[in-house]
Amino acid sequence: MSASIKRDLVEKLVGRAASDGDGVKLKRVFGGTGAERFDPFLMLDEFGSDEAADYVGGFPSHPHRGFETVTYMLEGRMLHEDHLGNRGLLEPGGVQWMTAGRGIIHSEMPQQASGRMRGFQLWVNLPAAEKMQPASYQDLPACAISEQHLEGGGLARVIAGSLDIDGQTVTGPISGKTTQALYVDLHLAADEACELPIAANLNALLYTYDGEIDVFGREQGTTLPAGHLGRLGEGNSISIQAGPAGAKVLLIGGKPLREPIVQYGPFVMNSREEIEQAMRDFRSGQLAS
Ligand code: MN
Repeated sequence: MSASIKRDLVEKLVGRAASDGDGVKLKRVFGGTGAERFDPFLMLDEFGSDEAADYVGGFPSHPHRGFETVTYMLEGRMLHEDHLGNRGLLEPGGVQWMTAGRGIIHSEMPQQASGRMRGFQLWVNLPAAEKMQPASYQDLPACAISEQHLEGGGLARVIAGSLDIDGQTVTGPISGKTTQALYVDLHLAADEACELPIAANLNALLYTYDGEIDVFGREQGTTLPAGHLGRLGEGNSISIQAGPAGAKVLLIGGKPLREPIVQYGPFVMNSREEIEQAMRDFRSGQLAS
């Protein structure tokens, strides 16, 4: 067995307020210019509010081409409908993994007029060879997510990929992606520490959404409070410890595609010509046909 090399936190950033869809207030953790360093991930948004005015507008009909959108609901309900007649209700603890492929035109609308809405949308790039595949979905209710208790009292919810937890391999319902996407929601008890192996070939990110954690690399610990994303450096494990109030953290990993990224809004391709084609296809109604 090779020695464990703990990954250092090499970059820490805080989400910034943004608005998308029909006036939905959200926190853009990363995305847009400079997102290459998160390869194969393109964007992470956190949406969360007690104020209906911040989310009721939802995300009316809009297109996507060339990547995958992953919506993870913590609280609230969101209805998804697309131009092909697919329809799915996202409920707390559930995930929708949508492969836009060559194209989808869909809406994502809140199914409540009051109360709390909270969740995440992660954009995962597709390799050039898979960008023009037909659109597909995996709708995963909360009970389909692989849950494993940690020795220290916490819980891991494995949405995608595989993770060795206390000597046991836990595999999420989404696996076999070219990007080797790993997506885990970790709930840590007060002061709970855990060390998890992460394949050395994956780019790895941690996003604390409740409480705070310390990340222990080869040198010293770095605190990652709620609302902060940490990008991890080279190594084959992560070592974290929750603060006195516990912590909830997304662990996101993926194999970099190392291909050119050309993005225009909801289209993510490899060249300008392909973006122009996507726009022509959208205007002529051919995006997803
Ligand atoms: Mn969308």
